[in-house]
Amino acid sequence: MSEADQGAARVRELSHFIDGRRAAGTSGQFADVYDPALGRISARVPVASTTEVAAAVAAAKAAFPAWSETAPLTRARLMFKFKELLDAHSDELAELITLDHGKLFSDAKGEVVRGIEIVEFACGIPTLLKTEFTDQISGGIDNWNLRQPLGVAAGVTPFNFPMVVPCWMFVMAAACGNTFILKPSERTPSASIRLAELFIEAGFPKGVFNVVHGSKPVVDALIDNPDVVAMSVVASTPVAEYIYGEFSKRGKRVQALGSAKNHLVVMPDADLDQAVDALINSSYGSAGERCMATSVAVAVGRIGDELVERLVPRVHALRIGGGMEPDLDMGPLISAAHRTKVLGYIDAGVKAGAKLVVDGRGHAVAGRDGFFLGGSLFDDVKPDMSIYREEIFGPVLSVVRVPDLASAIALVNAHELGNCVSLFTSDGNAARSFSRQIHIGMVGINIPSPVPPAWHSFGGWKRSLFGDHHAYGEEAVRFYTHYKSVMQRWPASTSKGAEFTMTQPK
Ligand code: NAD
Repeated sequence: MSEADQGAARVRELSHFIDGRRAAGTSGQFADVYDPALGRISARVPVASTTEVAAAVAAAKAAFPAWSETAPLTRARLMFKFKELLDAHSDELAELITLDHGKLFSDAKGEVVRGIEIVEFACGIPTLLKTEFTDQISGGIDNWNLRQPLGVAAGVTPFNFPMVVPCWMFVMAAACGNTFILKPSERTPSASIRLAELFIEAGFPKGVFNVVHGSKPVVDALIDNPDVVAMSVVASTPVAEYIYGEFSKRGKRVQALGSAKNHLVVMPDADLDQAVDALINSSYGSAGERCMATSVAVAVGRIGDELVERLVPRVHALRIGGGMEPDLDMGPLISAAHRTKVLGYIDAGVKAGAKLVVDGRGHAVAGRDGFFLGGSLFDDVKPDMSIYREEIFGPVLSVVRVPDLASAIALVNAHELGNCVSLFTSDGNAARSFSRQIHIGMVGINIPSPVPPAWHSFGGWKRSLFGDHHAYGEEAVRFYTHYKSVMQRWPASTSKGAEFTMTQPK
């Protein structure tokens, strides 16, 4: 077999997952999935036709009546089993994530753990669905609440967290008694299929969790399907806003998390060693392709020069390479097109007059044709520059200098995106004012990328989130259930006649 044939032989053929089993694509259309560390096609993913989308929705609809009536404790027991399987297959899942995404294996393992934490939280679903009860709101009348599942829900997920973001959705939706269709990123689809197989192996009924692949037409088919009653989205802001608009226009429930432009504010009294470590790991970890990545360092007062001086050698020293290799700091970007986009931002920053103190352009990794880019660092970035205003989603950190904390807060609050922010300081009062005044969904004090644990909830403000509910935690229980109030009286045997006033305590 020639070398080219051997290469072709390594291209994996992926499938949808519908009604409890893998389903080969029937549309005849496929999308290429790349191994970003090698820069070559590693898999072909089928693109679903509207018929295939309809089949997935039909399977989810058929599964809903029995699943929604299944006792929460039974659902929890299946979640326990699913968790055991995820633990047993964690290396395999992490490897699939690294293969599609290019993030380091150690980073992918961290993602698997965060996904498992959502499942662990969902194991408590009987308690989470427990509601309020008031005995005797009036003579012989009790009032209580129910949280009932919605029906068939769908999810659209981004490329950068192929396991954890789907887990935010299908795990919580299913635990609440819904059935689900996931449309994962067409660039990182492999982990979702394996998750669906393990879900069935855990004992969940077929049709409770389905996966269909594709891009906008598949999402549009889900939006248009009358049987899909709720949708969770995590995407770039234009896509999140589009899906939010289309789905809510149909009178349906939708939560759509969007892009990020996260600031890390360094006060003059901060522990600079800690702040520099935090900036390096949160700006360059996973090649900056995290919605919780730091993109802007806000240097307050006199700290600016020393901060940049300390950052420069650390950015130069980043160890960049292929995802499965040990002892690296970051891997490649997701695609050649995305690398070109990030390079375009660096060029634009230089043109706009920002100081490029570390230039990551042209960084190559010996022996690999992957989509690599070195870390870049800009100083003297101004708020009107595109590198400040727009999400870059790459290993590029911009330093903006401001005179005081009030200016830092005003800067962050003026940005249209509001996913997360951090403040590094040793002043508790400054930290308290900052936490209260900042218009951002997730705040870290002396902590970068403050991702809440599974039992809290995750989400930004402003144009980083459309809809009322944050992801996972108790917010997910609210999103994936209808809230109902039940008031009940068993009247005494003699009627008292109709009552025309509202119920009053007696
Ligand atoms: P993307 O917006 O290109 O794609 C996300 C999903 O939407 C994919 O499944 C894709 O197939 C689908 N999609 C793309 N274009 C569409 C369209 N026109 N209509 C309908 N669906 C469409 O995002 P990405 O590049 O995969 O992921 C990176 C983005 O996701 C970044 O902006 C990042 O900030 C954001 N993100 C946000 C969070 C968060 O929690 N806020 C988490 C992770 C990623």
